[in-house]
Amino acid sequence: MPIYEFRCKSCGKDFEVLFFSISEKREVLCPDCNSDEVEKLMSVFGGTSGSTSSSSCSTCSSSSCST
Ligand SMILES: [Zn+2]
Repeated sequence: MPIYEFRCKSCGKDFEVLFFSISEKREVLCPDCNSDEVEKLMSVFGGTSGSTSSSSCSTCSSSSCST
């Protein structure tokens, strides 16, 4: 389940909200002041993992392989 980080525009609090599906749309309220003036920050779920270099050969693990 994805976790998204939000920031309240009213009081400036950062908080995380767990969604049950990635396409779920629901109203997010600030846990401190109950304002719905929140903005979504970058997801803290996943991060930068999975970045692969496309310049290296997948069969011989050489970066200068010509095949
Ligand atoms: Zn708030």
